[in-house]
Amino acid sequence: MSAVPVDHGDPLEAFGRETAGCTRCRLAQGRTQVVFGAGNPHADLMFVGEAPGFHEDKQGLPFVGQAGKLLEKLLAGIGLSRQDVYIANVLKCRPPGNRDPAPDEIEACESHLFRQIELIEPVVVATLGNFATKLLSGRPLGITRVHGQEQQTTIGSRSVLLYPLYHPAAALYTPAMLKVLESDFARLPGLLGAAEPAPLEVVAEPEPAPAEQLNLF
Ligand code: SF4
Repeated sequence: MSAVPVDHGDPLEAFGRETAGCTRCRLAQGRTQVVFGAGNPHADLMFVGEAPGFHEDKQGLPFVGQAGKLLEKLLAGIGLSRQDVYIANVLKCRPPGNRDPAPDEIEACESHLFRQIELIEPVVVATLGNFATKLLSGRPLGITRVHGQEQQTTIGSRSVLLYPLYHPAAALYTPAMLKVLESDFARLPGLLGAAEPAPLEVVAEPEPAPAEQLNLF
């Protein structure tokens, strides 16, 4: 698997190179590399997780461990692959010991994510777990309360449909949560379709009835 996140020549790729040297927060000290994100730079569907873990930090790609395998399985279930979507995290560097992101780290890193969303221009942003959901919804409500409930929101200059989901890592070992995640996931194709601009409907003028026909009544 290549650590190059996106196509050459794409503005997102240039932004990825710029971010690779970021030292805005303390996580720069312990990381192997910045895990910028990966996938289709023009995806309609973007996933935002929490932060890179051990394997992500080593490989430079998001969601490559067991949670990543589950995400791929869920995507396959709706006829998509990793290449069809874009996957990123709230934090681009691994917190030591996979601890939770700290508020000042999120604050330092959030503009990278907002810029990614502006460049990718997704139609639906599916947040995976609490941290991404709270950051992008701007509300303190936890994922248990809001999963599966889409909301139109503005991120940077972009209006997107935000769709909170359980984090696959949390669902891995909790069968009940996995069932909920699967059923929330199944709504994604419909949300993507519904969020597309509706084609202009041309309403045909009714043909005037022939005179002799009118006379029949
Ligand atoms: S976590 Fe984000 S803000 Fe902190 S060093 Fe990494 S890229 Fe920069």
